Amino acid sequence: MSKIKVKNPIVELDGDEMTRIIWASIKGKLILPYLDVDLEYYDLGLPHRDETDDAVTTEAALAIKKHRVGVKCATITPDADRMDEYKLKKCWLSPNGTLRSILDGTVFRKPITVKNIEPAVRSWKKPIMIGRHAYGDIYKSQDFVVPGPGVVEMVYTPEGGEAVTIPVHTFKKGGGVVMGMHNADPSIISFAQACIAYALSEKVDLWFAAKDTISKKYHGRFKELFGAEVAKREADFQAAGISYRYLLIDDAVAQIMKHEGGMLWACMNYDGDVFSDMIASGFGSLGMMTSVLVSPDGCFEYEAAHGTVRRHYYEHLKGNATSTNSVASIFAWTGAIRKRGELDGTPEVVGFADKLEHAVISLIEEGVVTKDLVSLVVPAAKGYENTEGFLDQVAKRLQSTL
Ligand code: NAP
Ligand code: MG
Repeated sequence: MSKIKVKNPIVELDGDEMTRIIWASIKGKLILPYLDVDLEYYDLGLPHRDETDDAVTTEAALAIKKHRVGVKCATITPDADRMDEYKLKKCWLSPNGTLRSILDGTVFRKPITVKNIEPAVRSWKKPIMIGRHAYGDIYKSQDFVVPGPGVVEMVYTPEGGEAVTIPVHTFKKGGGVVMGMHNADPSIISFAQACIAYALSEKVDLWFAAKDTISKKYHGRFKELFGAEVAKREADFQAAGISYRYLLIDDAVAQIMKHEGGMLWACMNYDGDVFSDMIASGFGSLGMMTSVLVSPDGCFEYEAAHGTVRRHYYEHLKGNATSTNSVASIFAWTGAIRKRGELDGTPEVVGFADKLEHAVISLIEEGVVTKDLVSLVVPAAKGYENTEGFLDQVAKRLQSTL
């Protein structure tokens, strides 16, 4: 059988631990035998990030900017323990943070749904996608413990102008806590643009929720800027048959629990952090959640939403069998391959992504699963496949459909 030719390169970002093992198997068993594809490879495994003083992460981001499509394996974000474990020169920054800031991207998460896994919320029938604004608010704030009575003020000094002072609070009996946070108009606007682009490409309604009744200026600014971007694209919304709603965040949460799903829920940074985990566990397993970073100028980087599955990796190192779910990592590959095919205008490449996804879904729907899904599928699975066994089954199924 001749391989399917992929016209332009896909940028490949390798990673760490259990997901690195799975990564190599996916490539060897499901991708390279079928696609003639130029993979521009960057090794973001922690040892190589350390060797290159993390330059490889920036190089990979620039490559995605150039070729517009990337696929990334999960990576370790180092902390003090990892510094010791890997004898690092420095506690390098989160690679995803670096990629996000270079690509100015917004992260969208989408659950992979199968017929035999019932979401925890009975009304959910279609995937609920979350778009999280990944800049600012409490994640880039200054806070401090106020030790005792006194005055806290905010000062704004315009470039070349007079300082303006805004009182925050006068502490009278004892101290307390204070936080100063910010967001920036260009970031809010590119967040709105990325959400609009993603809703249009997925053809799903767009919801944006905040709390502008209480935070009239801060949240109010988000509502205003977001709404203005949507208004510019009204014709595109109509052509795609999708709608836009602004809701108060508490109303959105209440409605989501009774809705059938099938929308993109755009969230401010903290809301996105919290509700993306709620949606992930509501739909089943972390192993079934994909994620894509979309930049306002149309670059796409696909990955699994979970981490490097450290516990399974340590078992693997001891020589014990593992049963790690590879579905989200496979869907990261199919997401990138499909997008590459769409951008290149090569339907046979898009078709391959569809067939690979179908092979995975049909297997799970027949009860062939990894351990994490055994108790989630209905009827319960009789047993489970190990990590490589599941991938072999997918390969066999894919082969038979090509
Ligand atoms: P994790 O990789 O998300 O795994 C946590 C637990 O969730 C696992 O121990 C496992 O539970 C379950 N799980 C997650 N993915 C699974 C899968 N595909 N199949 C089966 N079970 C799965 O988090 P972690 O192990 O705490 O973190 C490891 C590293 O990942 C950290 O160094 C962190 O920095 C990094 N991380 C990277 C990313 C990213 O690159 N996007 C995201 C998050 C975390 P059981 O143990 O119960 O089986
Ligand atoms: Mg979170």
